[in-house]
Amino acid sequence: MRIGHGYDVHRLAAGRELVIGGVSIEHEFGLDGHSDADVLVHAVMDAVLGALALGDIGRHFPDTDARHRGISSMALLRHVVRLMDQAGFRLGNLDATVVAEAPKFAPFTPQMRENLAGAFDAPIDRVNVKATTEEGLGFTGARTGIAAHAVVLLEPKV
Ligand code: MG
Repeated sequence: MRIGHGYDVHRLAAGRELVIGGVSIEHEFGLDGHSDADVLVHAVMDAVLGALALGDIGRHFPDTDARHRGISSMALLRHVVRLMDQAGFRLGNLDATVVAEAPKFAPFTPQMRENLAGAFDAPIDRVNVKATTEEGLGFTGARTGIAAHAVVLLEPKV
């Protein structure tokens, strides 16, 4: 088995859509970035690439590449899942945490789980998404950014 960890942060900005875990969320700010800035999916991709010892998303999807401008991070995740598949692994389980002061994520986590499980072609009970605040502390507490952590366990395909 292989384990991987991913961490990502994006800055909140006016005039941007807030997309987290492939879910478009109504909010006064979105996340700034070259792609759709889906911080959760970025952390998940880095966890998978980490488990495979394949570097990070900056190496696979450089933000100097115009093809990645505004691209859906779920499409990038499907590419990473193909790399995992080619390496002979499948998802054992995924656990992820979104760190944000606002909005409330609980109504959206079922759809996020469904989106992520779908990208991995895995049963939904292998995917967990949760959210927490940092009690008003730090950059997430100041509502200047949103962070996400992800841990994956990959197992050999049988
Ligand atoms: Mg990112």
